[in-house]
Amino acid sequence: MSGILDTFFNLSYMLQVVPDILRVGYYNTLTISLYSTIIGIIIGAPLSLMAISQVTVVRVAAKVYIDIFRGLPAIVTIFIVGQGLPFAGFRPFGQNPYPYGIIAISIVASAYIAEILRAGIQSVDRGQTEAARSLGLDKHRTMYRVIFPQGIRRVIPALTNQFINIIKDSSLIFVLGLMVSERELYRIGQDISQRTGNLSPLVAVGIAYLVITVPMTHLVNYLDKEMRNGRPVLPAALRAFFARRRQAEAAAPAVESAETPALPVSQAARRTAAAGEVLVEAKDLTVDFGHFRALDHVSFEIRTGEVVCVIGPSGSGKSTLLRCINGLQPVDGGTLDIFGQPFPTREGPLNALRADVGMVFQSFNLFPHMSALSNVMFALEQVRHIDHEQARQIAIRALRSVGLGEKLDSLPARLSGGQQQRVAIARSLAMSPRIMLFDEATSALDPELVKGVLEIMESLARRPSADGSPMTMAVVTHEMGFARRVADRVVFMDQGRIIEQGTPSEIFDNPKSDRLKLFLDQIL
Ligand code: ADP
Ligand code: MG
Repeated sequence: MSGILDTFFNLSYMLQVVPDILRVGYYNTLTISLYSTIIGIIIGAPLSLMAISQVTVVRVAAKVYIDIFRGLPAIVTIFIVGQGLPFAGFRPFGQNPYPYGIIAISIVASAYIAEILRAGIQSVDRGQTEAARSLGLDKHRTMYRVIFPQGIRRVIPALTNQFINIIKDSSLIFVLGLMVSERELYRIGQDISQRTGNLSPLVAVGIAYLVITVPMTHLVNYLDKEMRNGRPVLPAALRAFFARRRQAEAAAPAVESAETPALPVSQAARRTAAAGEVLVEAKDLTVDFGHFRALDHVSFEIRTGEVVCVIGPSGSGKSTLLRCINGLQPVDGGTLDIFGQPFPTREGPLNALRADVGMVFQSFNLFPHMSALSNVMFALEQVRHIDHEQARQIAIRALRSVGLGEKLDSLPARLSGGQQQRVAIARSLAMSPRIMLFDEATSALDPELVKGVLEIMESLARRPSADGSPMTMAVVTHEMGFARRVADRVVFMDQGRIIEQGTPSEIFDNPKSDRLKLFLDQIL
């Protein structure tokens, strides 16, 4: 027993290491770890994007890199990189092995970090991409402004965990040979252990590691638990800071003046289309998913100011049809003209077009990391390039018009479903689109919240010209009361085809086809 105590817990030997641990050990271990984490993120972030690239060469290159450096024991990489780089003539840091060790550990870390970030990015709901794209954002801004910020938040626990691993891996750097002043924790323990012929110094160093890693492990678990319970992971102080910023943003008064246009100028100027002009014209529109034909030679048109309601059983192609109209769904056959032009295929014109086509989704797809106000301002600034203050005025006006003037600084998670959907409508409306698409906008709402959203949609359809004239709308809905009351035309779809279309009274009171009769029987 005393043998064990003396071998591992000899107090005087243990105390011998304490000054070195405090003077150089912690400093170097943490320096190496911090640098490696930062460089690891700098390499890992683009790597994570490469790993999900659509370009095969890029994707494969990233995966090979990740596979190699995750698959190799860290010590092998540290030897090969740490000794190999200077040996091969790459000597920006002279002969000192310390920085080369940091590079080696960074490379190992980058492979893990890339995987963590990739998982984070891929965990962000597809609806977020669709919402951003439907507002006219290009691929890159969608990634950097919408997807990446959300993905990172989700992987904060995993990244913290990775930091702990890097702290542990930093001990391996000793194999490169370190100067006395550059020794990290493990090397210090090893030195004194060899000098004294006793293991107690190493045990002391082990404790020094645990002093930092154990609290951090618990921090990870705590963050993980908080996030699983849907609570924000940022510390309260930071949260308060962001909340204050949101409030300040929202609190500055919206000056109602003649100079604040209700619509972005460029848009207002273009609103010269005569009522009744064909805005969307599809001929024999066909969409295939593999062997499955989701849209089968669909032909229809939508005219300025018209409200077209699309009804039909689930899976009949209603969403696919809407998604064609803003280019979220590529078309396999037929023609689609929009605003008098063939549907654009190139990225630039397509984004410009999407900015003019508002889309409201069943699941709202608000950006959860932005306040209601920022959600609405976002595309005004990013896509329409309206200056900040003016964008804010337009956004406040749009939010007031849907009855949310009091909720400007609320994050989506703090709003009811009905309120979220109204923010989503405001977000689209603020862009002053030429047509609005609603895909079952009320299907995800509790029954008592449906009415408020339908009322807003109805008021849009009946908007007096002074407020920007009635909105042209294509509305996929199961709300037959709404369709009957508001629609100029009702389109009934089944199995990818338009079976019947006509006025509400034609469709609801005098259905001709058996399929429509059956459908109406089932839902009414
Ligand atoms: P609806 O909105 O009328 O319920 P959708 O337009 O969403 O119907 O879908 C029509 C059909 O196409 C469905 O059978 C659906 O399963 C299929 N579908 C839709 N999107 C895809 C996709 N990305 N891949 C494969 N099949 C799809
Ligand atoms: Mg649908």
